[in-house]
Amino acid sequence: MSNNLNARRLNMSAFAQQGVPLVELTPLQNMERLAQEIHGPAPDLVINWRASGELRERSGVEDDVWVRLEAKTSLPLTCQRCMGTVATALEVDQWYRFVADEDIAMAEDDASEEDLLVMTPQFDLLAVVEDELLMALPLVPMHETCPVSPVFSAGEAELAQPEEAKPHPFAALAQLKKPK
Ligand SMILES: [Zn+2]
Repeated sequence: MSNNLNARRLNMSAFAQQGVPLVELTPLQNMERLAQEIHGPAPDLVINWRASGELRERSGVEDDVWVRLEAKTSLPLTCQRCMGTVATALEVDQWYRFVADEDIAMAEDDASEEDLLVMTPQFDLLAVVEDELLMALPLVPMHETCPVSPVFSAGEAELAQPEEAKPHPFAALAQLKKPK
């Protein structure tokens, strides 16, 4: 079932009430902040994500709007050791509860395991997906093993040099004995 929901302007109450998940393929270019973290241009990259909503009853008050966001992707980041591209898997799986205003969010945040979002008539869910992916980025992206040797400083280069690479002492002698 396809629906024409705009992830940047969602009526979250209606979305949760309807209960039909939103499955999106968003071009990375539409997430400008995230796109800046990428190694080199990646015009074809798309982010696959999913949102599902539900209403949960709470006695005495209106039902709460809950939304679960899931995203799984792999982004080409810059390895901070060799400066090459390192494919980095990112995964987001997070529940949110919507509250009426900022004051309630502040008051209930500490006591809530889920994240709280403030309801707006046209909620930008895509921005939340982008925020979560940005937070999921590693602080220092790095290969487990870099495909090329990192550049050593002079001292380290000597230490790293294997024994066999050193000229054999007799090789130097042989040079001296060579007839002119
Ligand atoms: Zn590397």
